Amino acid sequence: MPAEFTVQNLGITSLAERFGTPLYLYDGDRLTGRMDALRELLHPRLEIFYSLKANPNVSVCALLHAHGARAEVSSLTELLTARAAGVAARDIVFLGPGKSREELGACLRQGVYAVICESFQELAAIEELAGELGLTAPVALRVNPSFTVKGSGLTMGGKPRQFGIDEEQLLGSEPLGKGLAHVRLMGVQVYMGTRILSEEAVVLNTERILDLAERVAAHHGFPLETVDVGGGLGVAYFDGERDLDLARLAAGVNPVLDAFAEAHPDTRLIMELGRYLVAESGTYVVRVGYTKTSAGENFAVADGGTNHHMAAVGIGSFVKRNFPIELLNRPGTGATEPWNITGPLCTPNDTLGKKVPLPPLRTGDLLGVRRSGAYGPSASPVFFLSHGHPAEVLVHRGRAHLVRDADTPRDLLARQHLYDPASSAVRSPLDSLPTA
Ligand SMILES: *Cc1c(COP(=O)(O)O)cnc(C)c1O
Repeated sequence: MPAEFTVQNLGITSLAERFGTPLYLYDGDRLTGRMDALRELLHPRLEIFYSLKANPNVSVCALLHAHGARAEVSSLTELLTARAAGVAARDIVFLGPGKSREELGACLRQGVYAVICESFQELAAIEELAGELGLTAPVALRVNPSFTVKGSGLTMGGKPRQFGIDEEQLLGSEPLGKGLAHVRLMGVQVYMGTRILSEEAVVLNTERILDLAERVAAHHGFPLETVDVGGGLGVAYFDGERDLDLARLAAGVNPVLDAFAEAHPDTRLIMELGRYLVAESGTYVVRVGYTKTSAGENFAVADGGTNHHMAAVGIGSFVKRNFPIELLNRPGTGATEPWNITGPLCTPNDTLGKKVPLPPLRTGDLLGVRRSGAYGPSASPVFFLSHGHPAEVLVHRGRAHLVRDADTPRDLLARQHLYDPASSAVRSPLDSLPTA
């Protein structure tokens, strides 16, 4: 057992000292390893699109892109992030139920591969905007399928949803292509849900989505340039969960893709993955500030908590289940006591882990919440108590790179405007900060 936890031979103690805590640490080898394994095992016609929602860090996106990932984005900033990371517009799809005119305009002017349309009204809005811009909009229809497949943490199909167009409505409507002069219908997208840990569910989903896509395209009379089969592959976080077996998944899904690919030699096949690409690579590193006991339980109060890691509160479950948490600076010391790991917020919900078996903890210890590369700070209340966004560090080729600065109090105050009720003047709060 090494004296401390390392990433590519870099020790955690010096990384924590150099970059400060709390800190998100990404192991680039795990990011690229995931992409490489997918490309090696999954059908060669299946393109992997990275869902930036899972982790919008531009360097994370760039590293995945360098290993073949394209991008699926849902906001103007995500679109610009993907472009800055080097992803070409023709390898980007844009989805989301509430796209603004500004976002749609950026998609059309930049020439993204597909705008994934989520409602009849949005389709009309795209048609109108494309007409104004004198462009043709490539549009894939997102379908809310009538079927559902068990095995996902959050099921999408077969339910009333704000996402996509209900299968019954889509297959019951007049052919859409006729009334559209500035929209080129070109594909179908279906997203079945997130945190899928069953290989069989992925295979079944894919089969049904490909079949549905053919029916939608035939009904509306457009050529299937693309089918986006969603994704939502999960990783095991909690006791009793098992990671997907990629070889087994490939053995099931590749023949399905192969049959479709052969029948549709020009159709791009897309799988969107967020969590599966990034979760394992990330460790949320916090430092223990205080230890105490209350009513017979141990508490370690750390310098970061659910303000950066909201998922630790519980994912789609009322029962608190712990992410894997480890003592990083003294590994192998032996887990002997149950510890509640809490953060700096003034709410009892700010608990990263409940009764986590750990060695006796002391002030200064470094704790790591594992598998935390997905839905971290960007899905957390980072402004709560005005702590701001934590630093992010990416380790690649044995070197650590700061890929996001931690917010400072000045950063956070700079976005505000101080209205002075006495003079009715508005100025910057930075002008009146104490100098001491
Ligand atoms: C959130 C989302 C994704 C990414 O989901 P993961 O479970 O992180 O892979 C992909 N597609 C759509 C439509 C989404 O909403």
